[in-house]
Amino acid sequence: MTAQLECPRCGTSYPLDEVRYLCDCGSQLDVSHDLGALRAQITRTIFDARQRGAPTPHLCPERDSGVWRYRELILPVPAEMIVSRPEGNTPLYQHPRLSEWVGVDCLYLKHEGENPSGSFKDRGMTVGVTQARWLGARAVACASTGNTSASLAAYAALAGLPAIVFIPQGKIAAGKLAQALAYGAHTLQVTGDFDDAMRLVQHICDEMGIYLLNSLNPFRLEGQKSIIFETIHGLNWQPPDWIVLPAGNLGNTAAFGKALYELQQLGLITQMPRLAAVQATGANPFYQSYQLGFRQAVKVRAETVATAIRIGAPVSYERAVRSLRWTNGLVTQVSDAEIMDAKAMVDRAGIGCEPASAAAVAGVRKLVAEGVIRPSERVVAVLTGNLLKDPAATVSYHTGEWPEAQFANRPRAVSAHPEEVRRVIESIL
Ligand SMILES: *Cc1c(COP(=O)(O)O)cnc(C)c1O
Ligand SMILES: [Zn+2]
Repeated sequence: MTAQLECPRCGTSYPLDEVRYLCDCGSQLDVSHDLGALRAQITRTIFDARQRGAPTPHLCPERDSGVWRYRELILPVPAEMIVSRPEGNTPLYQHPRLSEWVGVDCLYLKHEGENPSGSFKDRGMTVGVTQARWLGARAVACASTGNTSASLAAYAALAGLPAIVFIPQGKIAAGKLAQALAYGAHTLQVTGDFDDAMRLVQHICDEMGIYLLNSLNPFRLEGQKSIIFETIHGLNWQPPDWIVLPAGNLGNTAAFGKALYELQQLGLITQMPRLAAVQATGANPFYQSYQLGFRQAVKVRAETVATAIRIGAPVSYERAVRSLRWTNGLVTQVSDAEIMDAKAMVDRAGIGCEPASAAAVAGVRKLVAEGVIRPSERVVAVLTGNLLKDPAATVSYHTGEWPEAQFANRPRAVSAHPEEVRRVIESIL
């Protein structure tokens, strides 16, 4: 085995096939790869060759999946264990109007909302559910603000494993709840918020021997690293100056830093992009901690329209701090109004995303306005989720529930008279 579980705090290691999420010292665990050995083995051309592999009548994960293409850096399991849709291979969009609006010459949008279940969570879940199958788990579970449960439900169904999802009551977007139910997950609506549901699921999984697939799970983060691998591969290994992402539970922030660190150690990149993690002002514990020089892990009661980042006590705090250290990264915050305006711009470009994703774009715009990101720098913003995940947020923005909305596109009521309709259309064109 070329990988093991390793504690970033005290250095203790555990075998990869042991069911555990935390070190005995209480820290979260990393999947630690033997980078020295991999350095001799991994080249850019291996990944190119896999992507160009000849067609076959069956799914071939290392050719078809944007996660398993990088499998040596993710999870060394036999190919027949892999549970894949496939996921990844998401587009890297450019749009002149958006670049202009945020104020940089070169803005890429890595659209993770175009994964099979509509969010980047699929990249972690393909690995987490594969590991669950490898370990012989009898069931899998998670607590979720929505996208994790949608993704878990889909991959568990594919693997034939029972899935149990814990959802904070009444605080989940319609598209996400619909997916969990449709894919057949046993769905428990818990009184309380996400942080309450999170504590509960950990307790229950330990007690009942159910495999926990929250971002606490180190294997999910390994899959999410592929967002970075695929993005930089897609830029022909020329890393951007900045990678900007929304930050909630901090799983991606943790995963991105680890991915960049590994690419650098392997000699696949020589220049380190800077990470910028963006929070909503009403759910900004990581921003507050950043302001305190990370001397203290702040917790808040979270409230924001961006439900996917409505998290007050982020699970992957320590590893996210490490990511910022490795990448000379920073944290910023944007208001809900800024998030919804940025979303409207992304949507109107024909691309579309859910509110949390738009925080990344609003964050780029803010950092450019503050002079932190220079207009000549190359920026990748990660769109984490699909437009259709949260139709209620979109409709309320456009129908006037957001008084500050800058780009509302109100529907017009017309009578069924051709004359009136003609007048209205002529006034538009
Ligand atoms: C889960 C999720 C996030 C938050 O990511 P973290 O890794 O928890 O910080 C952001 N946007 C969307 C759409 C998500 O589903
Ligand atoms: Zn430890």
